[in-house]
Amino acid sequence: MNIGKLYIISAPSGAGKTSLVKQLVADLDDLTVSVSHTTRQMRPGEAHGQDYYFVSVADFQAMQEQQAFLEHAQVFDNFYGTAQQTVEENLKQGLDVILEIDWQGAEQIKKLLPDSLSIFILPPSTEVLLQRLRNRGQDGEEIIARRMRDAVTEIRHHDEFDYLVVNDDFALALTELKSIIIANRLTRQRQLHNLRPLLASLLS
Ligand code: GDP
Ligand code: ADP
Ligand code: 5GP
Repeated sequence: MNIGKLYIISAPSGAGKTSLVKQLVADLDDLTVSVSHTTRQMRPGEAHGQDYYFVSVADFQAMQEQQAFLEHAQVFDNFYGTAQQTVEENLKQGLDVILEIDWQGAEQIKKLLPDSLSIFILPPSTEVLLQRLRNRGQDGEEIIARRMRDAVTEIRHHDEFDYLVVNDDFALALTELKSIIIANRLTRQRQLHNLRPLLASLLS
């Protein structure tokens, strides 16, 4: 069984990573996204276990003590973490796994699993980023202002990522993300496993 690839996708809030990842997972086979744990308030339309596991601070800390997280970080004023177990099970089954996490989590994962690939999504401009946060209509102006301030910190870390994708035209950004994943699936390392019978027959 081939082992899956772990992808880290980071972006400032509002750059479009959730929308892009949702479409990616719908379009490509054998790709799954890890559902994080968070202590932030559930937004209208979000569902427990689908967008996040929404937990209390006490529950989050208990998981931390049990070392249940592959990585965790404080983002804005909330805690976010990736549970280890599901990610590892999915990778072992040969699925590619996406982590939608912030730069602090990306740093932890890169240290822990250097074979992972990281992608940073940039908005086309500061103005567009603000507009998207407002259009999304799920956060108040105060929260939006906080996210805009933190966007600069997040974007400063772009140089720690393997790939940079600009989400201006949604369809183009989606194609670029797919290209990264498909190209990786064609590397010799991953193809050798699937193509062993073909190669054996061609070489016999
Ligand atoms: P989340 O709040 O971070 O989970 O954001 P979602 O990924 O759920 O996206 C919020 C909304 O944006 C959904 O209603 C999507 O259908 C919509 N959406 C997705 N792609 C696009 C796009 O390219 N352009 C616009 N204008 N809206 C989109
Ligand atoms: P994030 O997960 O990075 O916070 P979202 O996926 O929630 O971002 O996107 C923020 C908002 O921008 C959403 O309302 C989404 O529909 C919109 N959006 C995403 N990508 C594009 C795009 N390329 N063009 C226009 N609007 C977009
Ligand atoms: P939001 O609340 O808008 O869904 O996410 C806010 C920020 O938290 C984003 O930058 C997102 O990447 C980050 N985030 C979401 N889940 C995790 C996680 O499990 N770990 C880490 N480190 N960051 C996360």
